[in-house]
Amino acid sequence: MAASNGHSSIFIDSHAHLADTAFAGDRDEVISRARKAGAAAIVCIGESLATAKVASEIAADNPDFVFATAGIHPHDAADFVATRDLPKLGEALRDAVAVGECGLDYHYDNSPRDAQRAAFSAQLQVAHEMGKPLVVHTRDAEEDTRGFIREARTANVVGVLHCYTGTVHLAEFALDAGWYVSFSGIITFKKWADEDLLRLIPRDRLLVESDAPYLAPVPFRGKRNEPAWVVNTIARLARARDDDAAQLGAVTAANATRLFGLAFEAP
Ligand SMILES: [Zn+2]
Repeated sequence: MAASNGHSSIFIDSHAHLADTAFAGDRDEVISRARKAGAAAIVCIGESLATAKVASEIAADNPDFVFATAGIHPHDAADFVATRDLPKLGEALRDAVAVGECGLDYHYDNSPRDAQRAAFSAQLQVAHEMGKPLVVHTRDAEEDTRGFIREARTANVVGVLHCYTGTVHLAEFALDAGWYVSFSGIITFKKWADEDLLRLIPRDRLLVESDAPYLAPVPFRGKRNEPAWVVNTIARLARARDDDAAQLGAVTAANATRLFGLAFEAP
């Protein structure tokens, strides 16, 4: 896999919400800027049944470059009705590379915690049945997240802790179960102080992401984020790890390819 423009550094944006209405007006330009910046692929997150449909359309329009996921975000877990929604999710997942984003958010508590756990549990089961990895959002819910990672391990399911800002302890627990850890533009913010966490993740388990349209990295902080700017996050990560940014980009791209089973056209 190589960037088509002879760029020295390649990367894969492992988590972008390109189906978000923030990109409705200029999505093709955003995707083309990502290619120019060295992106080899973008994983387009469907965090609801509605966005999963849009994500799969974007993937179909950008073969071998945009890959879709489908899941129910913990914020929306209260509206999840298993008997009604699981068949639709299964349908949406047929061409998807992962289940998610799903998980637990006890910081915002936008959905009751028991509803969040039920939706996460159902999606873990689907990941198991379909042999797909999980894209997991976790915030202020480490104890329960450990429980789900333990369950996933038993079910032979791996995944990624996306936009990770949790403790070293939870990261180590996930790594031990074969999971990946993904960093977003948050690590470029001045207030980020956890250098140990950036150094701790083994090279073969690291992913990078935009989480666009949110969390634009410095020097674009506050703007609508886009996948091209993942290069700023890679540079920050490379600095913390005393690593080469181009090599780190390539390694994280290989990791994303492995985790999501991305199929590229032979060059
Ligand atoms: Zn997300």
